[in-house]
Amino acid sequence: MIFRQLYEPVSSTYTYLIGCEETGQAILVDPVVNAIDRDLHELSKLGMKLAYTVDTHIHADHITSALEMKKKVGSKIATPAIDGLPCTDVGIEDGTPFQVGGITLNPLHTPGHTDGHFAYIFQDRVLTGDALLIEGCGRTDFQNGHADTLYNSVTEKLFALPDDYLVYPAHDYHKRRVSTIAQEKDRNERLGQNKSLEEFREIMNNLNLPYPKFIDYAVPGNRKCGVCPDNLPKQLQEYCEQMTNSQQG
Ligand code: FE
Repeated sequence: MIFRQLYEPVSSTYTYLIGCEETGQAILVDPVVNAIDRDLHELSKLGMKLAYTVDTHIHADHITSALEMKKKVGSKIATPAIDGLPCTDVGIEDGTPFQVGGITLNPLHTPGHTDGHFAYIFQDRVLTGDALLIEGCGRTDFQNGHADTLYNSVTEKLFALPDDYLVYPAHDYHKRRVSTIAQEKDRNERLGQNKSLEEFREIMNNLNLPYPKFIDYAVPGNRKCGVCPDNLPKQLQEYCEQMTNSQQG
């Protein structure tokens, strides 16, 4: 099985390429529209065909490449069924394995960052989306987010996974790439060390984060499985432009 973690610098997003060598099929989890060429290049280097794009949630900080990939290479779109997106080919449900070739993702509904958020367990690792980040977590003040709900998702579902499971988040703003369940139980500043719900609420209520600069474009675009708006201000255009750094040296 092939597993690649790819970093997109505009939104500090990690996209995961998972490939089945037997069938030549691959999936991309949380692909970013401005990194399409990079992702297609990775797939062609591996000799793999993109069968599905899969999103953990409706993103507010980048636009998914799901729709553009479908147009370019005919991949299908999988998103959480609970979000009810008409552009989706397959709705992912809690506890129902999602299978492509020899790849099996076990979806875990982990609301709180958004109400429809899913984490995906793959073998000895979990793609945690924005529910659990390395020594942090996604914000809970937009998209029907709720601190209490996120607390329950992390402490009852993600922290219930085996300690040695690897934690692969959707973002990291310090270029850290991987953690483990045990490490997050110990070192996560918001949820580790058996933080109480009251402590977590207090932390989340006092983050004083700025209004997300791309959210008003990203959410409607992602509800259509990844449409870049026509009216994007100049300072936000990098979110929809192709990455300029060529991987071909
Ligand atoms: Fe998010």
